[in-house]
Amino acid sequence: MTYAGPASAQSADPIRYTVSFPAPHTHYVEVTASVPTEGRPAIELMMAVWTPGSYLVREFARHVESFSARSEQSAGLAVEKTDKNRWRVETGSASRVTVSYRVYGREMAVRTNWIEASFALLNGAPTFMTLADSHHRPHEVAIQMPSGWKRSMTGLAEVPGTAHQYRAPDFDTLVDSPILLGNPAVYEFTVDGKKHYLVNEGEAGVFDGAKAAKDLEAIVKEHRALWGHLPYDKYLFLNVITESGGGLEHKNSTVLMTSRWTTRTRKAYIAWLELASHEFFHTWNVKRLRPAELGPFDYENEVLTRSLWVAEGFTDYYGELLVHRAGVSTRDEYLEALSNQIESLQTTPGRLVQSAELASHDAWIKYYRTDENSANTSISYYIKGAVLAFVLDGKIRGATGGKQSLDDVMRAAYERYAGERGYTQEQFRAVMEQVSGLKLDEFWGTSVEGTAELDYKEALEWFGLRFKRDPRGDAPGKAWLGVNTRNDAGRLVVSNVPRATPAHDAGINVDDEILAIDDFRVRADQLPTRLDQYKAGDKVTLLIARRELLLRIPITLGSEPPRQWRLEVNPEAKDDQKKRLSEWLGTEGGACSFDPPAGQKRPS
Ligand SMILES: [Zn+2]
Repeated sequence: MTYAGPASAQSADPIRYTVSFPAPHTHYVEVTASVPTEGRPAIELMMAVWTPGSYLVREFARHVESFSARSEQSAGLAVEKTDKNRWRVETGSASRVTVSYRVYGREMAVRTNWIEASFALLNGAPTFMTLADSHHRPHEVAIQMPSGWKRSMTGLAEVPGTAHQYRAPDFDTLVDSPILLGNPAVYEFTVDGKKHYLVNEGEAGVFDGAKAAKDLEAIVKEHRALWGHLPYDKYLFLNVITESGGGLEHKNSTVLMTSRWTTRTRKAYIAWLELASHEFFHTWNVKRLRPAELGPFDYENEVLTRSLWVAEGFTDYYGELLVHRAGVSTRDEYLEALSNQIESLQTTPGRLVQSAELASHDAWIKYYRTDENSANTSISYYIKGAVLAFVLDGKIRGATGGKQSLDDVMRAAYERYAGERGYTQEQFRAVMEQVSGLKLDEFWGTSVEGTAELDYKEALEWFGLRFKRDPRGDAPGKAWLGVNTRNDAGRLVVSNVPRATPAHDAGINVDDEILAIDDFRVRADQLPTRLDQYKAGDKVTLLIARRELLLRIPITLGSEPPRQWRLEVNPEAKDDQKKRLSEWLGTEGGACSFDPPAGQKRPS
């Protein structure tokens, strides 16, 4: 979404930034900005408090220091800090003022800055201040590279005939265009005549960039097949290999973080490809086809939307599905990924408390601010949204005899609402109803706005799938407390207490240290084997330490719930069901170029 202002904005005077790194090993970037004043006696500059795609107020201004301003006539203009993220500059009637500041960047995350001796990742929101009241104007960036740094990689357009100089038509584009600087390994491939770059910072001779680029190319082609077009001139996968994680979407790039060992084990590698696929799907779903609330952005306040279950959840569904359709993951691997989403939803108590819509709306205060009780009171809009996508995909295919699918809904919604308009919840539902011929008000009420258990029957029946029986059969599960624990330097400490478990009912608390069961010492690694000594229904006493005070708590052990949310192809599936499964998943696939190095062990 380019929210360029009125046409005249393009011809408005640009803000011109110069960024430099006199001492990158101290984690600072120095920014100067030449800002047009349009003859005003004072101007106000602001720094964003959050960045799109990551729904938390992060107060980027907290890393800014040494702000000063000057003009051709005056070496020191009066400056006043007027808000947590705003600076007012007296212009002295100069037509341009130059402001300077430094930004500390040492957070290894996709939405902030990292600067060190050998490379830097700069994001727009935490780096560039702009005019608070008129940022619909060109923003130009000239980078002074430290000696030895050869490449700057970004989705921004290069200024022709220059090196390391870029131009954004407006502030939104600048914020949407992270810049990776240093000496990354760069792999290119072309789809539809458009250049794609896999930019790897930190391969260290371990991460296999050539293989990753080859598989990304297959995935890009699969996304193009679904949407029918590639909506950009170039695209960059900025892959920061720094033993961190996460991904953030942009209009023609993404920042990914991963481990250098990722390409060495199939499981980690498929997960990374699914992450890249998720972020790439956002190129359409959220960066162009977006909830109405997500643009034009207010960079200084929270922006609330009830549609993140579509923007993120559907993206998660397709991220994994398209890796499989591209022939990169096997059918079993795909069904396992989808089963993980379903199992996670169905074993999270918060699914009965928070709807998909409210999870979206409250992302800022809940999803991005989880605590030890979150699983009891909230649900991830990624997970619920992905599972809703699967259920709806099956429903739509069933209702139209396989003539339409969720793919058609996404294309129709894109056709109608991509660009500056955005969609409301009602409009998105209307597109789905139109494509499927279904009335979805009841489904919406129970499953999107409500917290009823989802019904998988239609989807399973359509695709010829079923949930596997627990391999333990009908035998009662092991004796079970229901707490999650951690080994804290040899101490067995409760990390959370899910609702409707024996531990929850008995009053075991987070941070209790479990010392003994029936006065027999239990060490940190002994809880599962000790519970094997008991059966469901046994009454025992837990000796715990709570804030250094010893307590004896009686508890009736429960029975470990069966695992009942793992999908498999129904062995009794009929031919037409098998055919529908292939229409959904494509070929059986699995021709991933993964080729483990000799002697390498599979992950456990
Ligand atoms: Zn996402």
